[in-house]
Amino acid sequence: MIPEPTSQPTDFIRAAVAEDLKSGRYTRVHTRFPPEPNGYLHIGHAKAIAVDFGIAAEFGGQCNLRFDDTNPVKEEQEYVDMIMADIRWLGFDWEDRLYYASDYFEQLYEWAVQLIKKGKAYVCDLTPDEMREYRGTLTEPGKDSPYRNRSVEENLDLFARMRAGEFPDGARTLRAKIDMASGNINLRDPVMYRILHAAHHRTGDQWRIYPLYDFAHGQSDSIEGITHSLCSLEYEIHRPLYDWYLDTLEIYHPRQIEFARLNLSYTLLSKRRLLQLVKEGRVRGWDDPRMPTLSGLRRRGYTPESIRDFCARIGVAKNDSVADVTLLEHCVREDLNKRAARVMGVLKPLKVVIENYPEGQVEEMEAINNPEDASAGTRKAPFSRELYIEQDDFRETPPPKYYRLSPGREVRLRYAYFVKCVGVVKDANGQIVELRCTYDPATRGGDAPDGRKVKSTIHWVSAPHAVQAEVRLYDRLFAKENPDDVPEGKTFLDNLNPNSLEVLPMCFVEPSVKGAAHGSRYQFERSGYFCVDPDSANGKLVFNRTVGLKDSWAKVEKSR
Ligand code: ATP
Ligand code: MG
Repeated sequence: MIPEPTSQPTDFIRAAVAEDLKSGRYTRVHTRFPPEPNGYLHIGHAKAIAVDFGIAAEFGGQCNLRFDDTNPVKEEQEYVDMIMADIRWLGFDWEDRLYYASDYFEQLYEWAVQLIKKGKAYVCDLTPDEMREYRGTLTEPGKDSPYRNRSVEENLDLFARMRAGEFPDGARTLRAKIDMASGNINLRDPVMYRILHAAHHRTGDQWRIYPLYDFAHGQSDSIEGITHSLCSLEYEIHRPLYDWYLDTLEIYHPRQIEFARLNLSYTLLSKRRLLQLVKEGRVRGWDDPRMPTLSGLRRRGYTPESIRDFCARIGVAKNDSVADVTLLEHCVREDLNKRAARVMGVLKPLKVVIENYPEGQVEEMEAINNPEDASAGTRKAPFSRELYIEQDDFRETPPPKYYRLSPGREVRLRYAYFVKCVGVVKDANGQIVELRCTYDPATRGGDAPDGRKVKSTIHWVSAPHAVQAEVRLYDRLFAKENPDDVPEGKTFLDNLNPNSLEVLPMCFVEPSVKGAAHGSRYQFERSGYFCVDPDSANGKLVFNRTVGLKDSWAKVEKSR
C-alpha cells in the first residue's frame, strides 16, 4: 500500500510527467529508486523516495527498487538489507520489482561489445594520471588518447582479455569514443569499464571488470522500461551521456529529469561523511539518534508519517536550497502531539515528602492520556507521601516571575493536590536533597473549594511507584548551521557539537510505562516527546528524547 501524500503539490516534475502523458510521449508512468548500497539511507534519500514512489502512485504507475551496485569495493549486503528495511518503514512498497544493476552485467557487457563493433568504444592504456592530463579542463579542450584509433579487432580482443582477468587493476579501461573537445567534460571519452579484481557482494568472483555508473544507469532504466528517471541535480551534466548511450545503442529511451537535493541546516547528508562519523566512533553507529539516517531518526522516535509530511512540505524544485531543520522537528512534534500518550516523568529528580499525608496511603489519580484524542481515555497515576519533582521546579530564592515551588509558596501537583513548601533539607555540602511540604486534602483533582488560586502546575511521580529510567537528551550533531563552513585547515569534524548527547541515568517515570516495548512513544508532560530505545532490556528502560515541546519553527513562521 502506497500511502497518500499529505498534500499533492504540483511541481515541475509532475507537470512534465502530465505533459508526457498528454502528448503521448509515454503512455504510462514507471519510475525507480536507485540507491547505491554503500551506506544507510538518510533524510535526503527520503525525499527522493517520496518523489519516485509518490509520483508513480499519483499517476497510477509503478516504482522499482534497484540497487546501483556497480562498485564492489564499497558495497555490502548489510547495506542492501538496511535500505530495504528503511524504505518499508517509510511506508513504500516495490512489490515484486526488486532489481540490481549487477543483474544486467552480462547484457551491459554485450552492449559494450556492440559499441566497440560500431567504432564507438575503445580500450585505452593511459594510466589514471595520464587520463586526467589528457582530459583537459573546463576552459581547455582535452587531447585524443593515443589508443583512440585501435582497430575494432584489437579492441574486441583486449576487452575480452580484460574480462578474463589478464590485466591488473587500472592497467586499461574501456572508453566511449565521443568528443575530447566537448564543452561537457562528461562527454570527453568517458570510461565505461574499469578493471577491478574485487569480489562483488552478489556476483562474487565472476567479474574482473565493472561498468561505471553512467554506463549502467540509463541502460538499467531502459531494460526495466522506466519512463521517468528522476534524480538529483548533480546528474544534470550527465544527462547528455545518459542520452548518448541509449541513442547510440538504439534501445528504448527513458527520460531523465533532475530535481534539487535536500540540504538541511545543521546537518550533513552524504553517505561518505556519515560513514566517516561511524568509522571514527564520533557517533555510536549508523542508527545513532543524532544521525540524519532513517535508522537514526527512527531510533530517535521519528514516525514515518512525520518524515513523509516533511517531504511533502519541502516539495520538489529545480533550485538548490537549504531546508530548516526546525521544520523537520515541527513535523514530528505535530504528529506526536496527535498520537503520543502523555505520562509524567521527572528527568532531574528532587525528593518531596508531604508531611501531613498519611504514611502508607496510596491514591489513584485519574490522568488524561491525550487531550488531543478523547478516545485515548484515562489512566490511574498513584499518589503517595513521597514524590519526585523536577529540580527546576523549585527555587529556594525565587527570581522575579518564577511561580513554581519555593519556600512558603503553594503550587498545584498535576491531577492531584495543592502543596505548599514548608521546609528544605540540605546535605553537609549545602545541597538541597529533599523538600518538606504539606498538602490540602480539599484540593483533590486540582481546585480549591474556597476559590484560591495557584500560579503554576508541576508534574510529579510517586517515589515508591516510580520506574527508574535512563534518559538520553540530544542536541544538534553539528554546532554550525552549515557544517561545511570551516576556516582553512579545519574540517567538518571541527564543527561537531561537543554537547550533542546528555545522559541522565536516574530519571523517574510513572508506572504506566513499565514494560513498554522498544519504539513506544510518549509525551513526558512539560518536557517533550520520548521513545523507548532498543538498549532497554531486563526491566531497565532507556528513553531517547525525540524533540522538546517548544516549537522554534512555528515561532519563526509566526513572526514572518
Ligand atoms: P550520498 O551523496 O549521500 O552518498 P548518493 O546520491 O550518492 O548520496 P545514492 O544511493 O546514489 O546516494 O542515491 C540514490 C538516490 O537518492 C539518487 O537518485 C539520488 O539522486 C537521491 N539522493 C541522494 N541524496 C539526496 C538528497 N540529499 N536529496 C534528494 N535526493 C537524494
Ligand atoms: Mg551515489
